[in-house]
Amino acid sequence: MTESLARVPWYPLVFPLFYGALAVFALLMARHLRVFGAVRPARPFADVPRRTAALLRYALVQTRMFRDARAGVMHYAIFAAFVFLSVGMASAVTGGLVEALLGAPLDGAIWAAVLFCGNVAAVAALGAVAYALVRRLVVRPARLTLSRSGIAILLLIGGIVAAQLGALTYEAALYGPLPGAVLTNAAGAALAGVDPGLLEALFALHWWAHVALVAVFLVWLPTTKHLHVVTSFFNVYLRKLEPRGALPAMDLEAEDTTYGLRTLADLAWKDVLDGFTCTECGRCQDACPAHFTGKPLNPKELVMGIRHLADAAERGLPVIPNSPDVRARGGALDDRLAPATMAIPLVPGAISEDAAWDCVTCGACVEACPVLIEHVDKIVGIRRNLVLEESRFPAELTPAFRAMESAQNPWGQPKSARLDWAKGLPFEVPTAAAIAAAGELDSLEVLYWVGCAAAFDERNRRVARAFATCLHAAGVRFAVLGQEEACTGDPARRMGNEYVFQLLAAQNVETLRRYGPPVIVTACPHCFNTIANEYPQLGGTFEAVHHSAFLAQLLADGRLATLAGPEGAAARRITFHDACYLARYNGVIAAPRDVLGAVPGLELAEMERHGRQSFCCGAGGGRMWMEESRGTRINAERARQALATGAAAVAVGCPFCLTMLGDGLAADPANEAGVTTLDLAEILAPVAVAGPSPGARRPGRELPILQ
Ligand code: SF4
Ligand code: SF4
Repeated sequence: MTESLARVPWYPLVFPLFYGALAVFALLMARHLRVFGAVRPARPFADVPRRTAALLRYALVQTRMFRDARAGVMHYAIFAAFVFLSVGMASAVTGGLVEALLGAPLDGAIWAAVLFCGNVAAVAALGAVAYALVRRLVVRPARLTLSRSGIAILLLIGGIVAAQLGALTYEAALYGPLPGAVLTNAAGAALAGVDPGLLEALFALHWWAHVALVAVFLVWLPTTKHLHVVTSFFNVYLRKLEPRGALPAMDLEAEDTTYGLRTLADLAWKDVLDGFTCTECGRCQDACPAHFTGKPLNPKELVMGIRHLADAAERGLPVIPNSPDVRARGGALDDRLAPATMAIPLVPGAISEDAAWDCVTCGACVEACPVLIEHVDKIVGIRRNLVLEESRFPAELTPAFRAMESAQNPWGQPKSARLDWAKGLPFEVPTAAAIAAAGELDSLEVLYWVGCAAAFDERNRRVARAFATCLHAAGVRFAVLGQEEACTGDPARRMGNEYVFQLLAAQNVETLRRYGPPVIVTACPHCFNTIANEYPQLGGTFEAVHHSAFLAQLLADGRLATLAGPEGAAARRITFHDACYLARYNGVIAAPRDVLGAVPGLELAEMERHGRQSFCCGAGGGRMWMEESRGTRINAERARQALATGAAAVAVGCPFCLTMLGDGLAADPANEAGVTTLDLAEILAPVAVAGPSPGARRPGRELPILQ
């Protein structure tokens, strides 16, 4: 035993107290594991280096916590104190083994450093606890759930830290300074002259209070949201590593499959871990455009709902596997989870039906969550069950589903109209079939995936014409699929209709394989995301790029250049709206700005929420085809944010954003200047000319005026 521990009266009592609490902790955790065992298996273990890197970044450095700087500092102070307190506690409950090990090398410098850091972290943690209490009780931001257990846990943490600081202070006052513990040494020195008997009593009181409160914390922890101090490391390590934009694959042929997520039993154990890891911080709630505009959806409540169902399922199970209670039942452990709870449907058990359809699958919640919880996969899983098993979906989706299944586009337009957008262009837009028939497939540089919106929506057809004009100017040998193109299936998949998605996707994969284009370029982030990230699930691995990245590359390579025309001479303030499936899901943030930067006379004014923190236009997740009858309109809110920049135009890189924001701007009474939306290609095309590089044809040629 170390000299320090020998000073503690009744020291051996620490063993039954601490290890008893630890045993209860372990039993309660084991009871949680029975829920994990009753749901679907998952094997998120591969790729140790990436998982380890994520652990360092998100769990140890906690980069996402610092997006809210004050909350980040507060949390980190408590986390650091927790780490150093754990080292001290580990030493106290092992008879000083840890102190002996760390104190031996370098003449005790390592142990002194631990005491120093622990001292500083503990004082900072006290401030952090005070700040957290003021925030919850006085400031009360909407995103934080005010609960008695939350307040009690904060008080408990404060008590643990204060008791430890007190014990160290009185120990220093009685026995002299401890190496490294500069703050408590100074406080102890200030107590010189106090009755030693009183100091001894206070030392014992604080030392035992510290250990007793830690024991209470251990016993209580498994039943509170602060369980995240244990689970968040696992949750971060076991995070989804597939592309964020790829929804989970689904085998529609499997005979024993439940379509989507109906009850707790249909969730994977990683989803249950998500539930137990939620800190109730409300960052997802704050980021959610549906919640922001007053709709019933709250991603935090969905995750909490899953945890509540899991808690309810294990309620009543014996905590001790071989307890007298179990023996009285014949020695068999009753480990059946509450059957009634396991059968509760997630809708409405964890989320209301309206809320499940409010989601625009923008991913802002996933991006905001500090412990990497995946909300979107769960919401779409729930929709899959509603659509495929129960045929419960908003009535207005019926025509969209039918149109995608029969006409292969959500607008229900005939295939023969797919190339109408190219009529009147002063150059030919060849189809891949024609190029193949001419035996020239090898010369194809890029396949332009037009997408249904640009093929059939009159406003978006202008984008297709502008983009094709840029390609032509740069001398890019491109082709389109024309009538062979079908909807990628993105809206169907996100509306929960996996059947229609797989039908469309399989057909497209087959078509694309036939032509084997080196690159597929598209102006639609949804098509881009689906082709790049989801078609591999169906055996179609293709190189896909968004048109912003392709145009930026053409400009960088000198295949495309820009003229300083009369329009460009006067600086025009412009803002860029990042599409969720471009910036947040696929990290394409710089390319659109590079394109705008190449247009003379443009001045970029960023919205407060841009890049990965962008705010949805309201059309994702199939919401383009649904009425927005709850709350206010998401596109109106985004239009308001765009107008606040004072921009003369709103640049976009997505056909849905073009329509939604265009409508939002047109309906905004504050838009007296008539601000409207323009796709990047529409901004670039009027000033684009062939660049000086050898790849360009007819350099210096001015482009025809766009239709
Ligand atoms: S994906 Fe977007 S709309 Fe859906 S819950 Fe998350 S933040 Fe809200
Ligand atoms: S899901 Fe994540 S962001 Fe949302 S409340 Fe829980 S921990 Fe916070």
